[in-house]
This record gives sequence, structure tokens and C-alpha cells, in this order.
Amino acid sequence: MAILELTMLEFIFWALLQAIIVAVVVGKILGKGEMAGPLLLWKSKKGFNFLNKIAEKKNFWEKYGDFGIILAFGLLGGLFVFRRKKNWKRAVMSVVAPLLIFGPFIVPRLILGGPLQGIDFSLIFLFLGGFSSFIFFSIGSSAYQVILRYLGEQEVMAMAGPAIPGINIEGSPFQGIPWYGWLAFPILIFVHELSHGVLLRAAKLKVKNTGVAFFGLLPAGAFVEPDEEELASADVDERNRVYSVGSASNCVTACVFLAISLVFFSPLLGSLGVSDYTELEVAKVLPESNAKNLEQGMKVMSINGQEVTSVAEIQSVLEDFEPGDKVDLTTSQGEMSVRLNEEGMIGAYFKQGFSSSMPAYLNFLVNLNSFVYLVFFFNLVIGIMNLLPLKPLDGGLLTESVLKEKIGKELASKTATGITVVSLVLLLVNMLPLFFS
Ligand SMILES: [Zn+2]
Repeated sequence: MAILELTMLEFIFWALLQAIIVAVVVGKILGKGEMAGPLLLWKSKKGFNFLNKIAEKKNFWEKYGDFGIILAFGLLGGLFVFRRKKNWKRAVMSVVAPLLIFGPFIVPRLILGGPLQGIDFSLIFLFLGGFSSFIFFSIGSSAYQVILRYLGEQEVMAMAGPAIPGINIEGSPFQGIPWYGWLAFPILIFVHELSHGVLLRAAKLKVKNTGVAFFGLLPAGAFVEPDEEELASADVDERNRVYSVGSASNCVTACVFLAISLVFFSPLLGSLGVSDYTELEVAKVLPESNAKNLEQGMKVMSINGQEVTSVAEIQSVLEDFEPGDKVDLTTSQGEMSVRLNEEGMIGAYFKQGFSSSMPAYLNFLVNLNSFVYLVFFFNLVIGIMNLLPLKPLDGGLLTESVLKEKIGKELASKTATGITVVSLVLLLVNMLPLFFS
């Protein structure tokens, strides 16, 4: 199915319009559900027994909640969780726990290399301050890049943007997400809210309602509604656990789905010979390119006689050439030659796809694998983004909850609001190029 192309402003306009129409028609006229701005809420008392049943394993959920706090705040989270242990034990556990949790993120980066020979600052932030600090630092440093590029009057690209299945927002870093990515959201929302609910019940705190929120036709989230006042005055450990488990469950779900894709689908698709059907297509010819004879949608089979079926293969073939060299491409529209640009590149974007001769069952498996991958992707991205210290995201509430213990309720609320403003500004700077390029 084709992907819709929209600019950010068009997207905001159409998204709000459909949300308001649905909220008014269903909420006001049909009188079903409750309107909350452009959101339509369906509340229910169903699911309470289910929550209570799962919450019975109180010890397990407390440990799981502590895992969530270390995931959110790294070493600092560990020092908090283990604060009642003896000094040396507290220190060792606070160091070891984030290493175990973030090892899968840190080790591959150290081996594969990258900025500062693999030890970039974001990883140090990840270890010391968890995903909350990691994402804060990451959007901070990319906001800095965006500002530098604006000041230098260089071409600037958005470093953050909406990731909407079936819709390409012009300039957003997330492009070409197939429509069935929508099906990942119910999974993501379910595990997230379920874990908030279970932790509330495990701490014997009230759940007022469970329900689903719709942004027009789109499910915007399920929710488990706590008694805010009761939660705010609850024991600090219990409160932190409730706030942190939503993201923790998204990260765990991400790992499970990534494992399914790597352990099950990759070998299966490999053994069924899926690579025989991969092909390369021209996705976009750059404006200042020498490759004006290429056209979007054209298939590219080989470069100077060497077969290419992936973007990585193009790069490895081009390594043998110098900028300005001529290369011959075999395409679906015959032979063409292209002079490489100053960077030794063809001057076009390519995308990998599958040929139409691929059997239907294989096509289905490829799409199923790509869905499993999208469940991984959305759970990870949203699990981490949600820990950004920005109220009312969980990361913001958690930050306020921790600060409250140290500096008192009022100062904590003011500080958390300050941090929220900073996070929001940084996030908007990342998205600025979506509005002004
Ligand atoms: Zn949450």
C-alpha cells in the first residue's frame, strides 16, 4: 500500500481536524465516551480483577519496579534503590546493576566503534543516569548541532519528528514506515499501562478507571487512572516503581520482539532464499547530482559488472573508485554511466526492496518479520522517549517524585517544571527543520 506524503503543518492540520470531528460526533452527538480536548476517552471498571490477580506476586513486582528505576536513572537510580544496604554493598550493586542492564547497548557500540573510539558521551550518561539522562543528553547534543547548522547557513535536517505508519512527514527522520506499523501500538500501550496498573495494585494503591483514549480514529493510548493524590503521598519507592515500570515494560517487550526477529525470522527467511529476491531501486535523485539520467523507481542491478542487491553492496563497490570517476550502471532501463560526485558517491538515495516475482508466502513472512521489527522499534523508541524528564511524561513525573524526597514538595515541583521547559525547548529545536528548512 502506498505511503501518504505530507508536510508537518499539513499533518498537524489533518490530524487535529479528524480528531475534533470524531470527538464531537462520538462524544457530544452520540454521547459515547468523554471528551478531553481533542481526545475521546472510554473509561471502564473492567480489568480490575485481572490487575489484582497479576499483582499478587508482590515481591516480584517490587524487584521489577526497582529494575525500572535503574533503567530510568542508571547508577543514580541504583544508589537510590539500594540505599538501605551497607555502604560497600550499596556501591557495588549500584555499579553492577546498570552495567548488566545497559551492557547489551554499550558492548556492541564499544566493539563496533564510533565517536571517541566507541566511548561517546551518551554512553557515559546512560551508565550514570540511565535512559532518562541518555535521552536528555542526546536531544541536547542534536539540538546543538541543529543550531550550529542554522547559524552556519548549512543544510539542516530534523533530528526528531513524528514516526507515523503509512505517512511520510516531509523532513522527518522516520520515513517509509508501512501502515501495519499501527498494529504495534496496541501491544505497546497494553504492556505499558498494564504494568502501571499492576504496580499500583501491588502497592495496594487505588486504580480509579481503566480505559482507552482515541485521537480521532487513531488509538492514542490506553490508560490506567491512579488516584493522583493518593499516589503523590504514597511511599517514595512505591511511587517511583509505579512511574518507571511503563517504560521498563516497553524496553523488555522490545528485547523480546528483537529476539523473535533475530532468532526465528532471520534464519527462516535466509533458509527460504529470500536474498534471491532482494533488489535495489532508486529512491531519490539529489538536486545537485550528476546522475540526472537516473529516475525514481528505476531498478539498479549492477555497477561496473558487479551485482548489487543492497545499499551496503553499493558502498563497498564504490570504495574502489575515486571522486570524479565514471561508473557504469545496469538498470531496468538499460546501461547508464554516472560520474561520481566530490564524495565519491552516485548522488542518489537507493532503497532495498523485494522483486514482484517473490512468492506470496515469502512476501507474507517478510512483512510479518517487518511487523515484529516495528513492534521492537516502537517499544524501544517510545519506552526511552517516555523517560525524558518532561512532565507529564513518566520521566518528568519520576524526576519530580525523586526530587520531592530530597528538596521537598514545592521546590521539587518548581525544579521539575524548569527541567520540563528545557526538555521541551530542546525537543522543539530538534524538530525546527520540519517547519523551517
Ligand atoms: Zn506511563
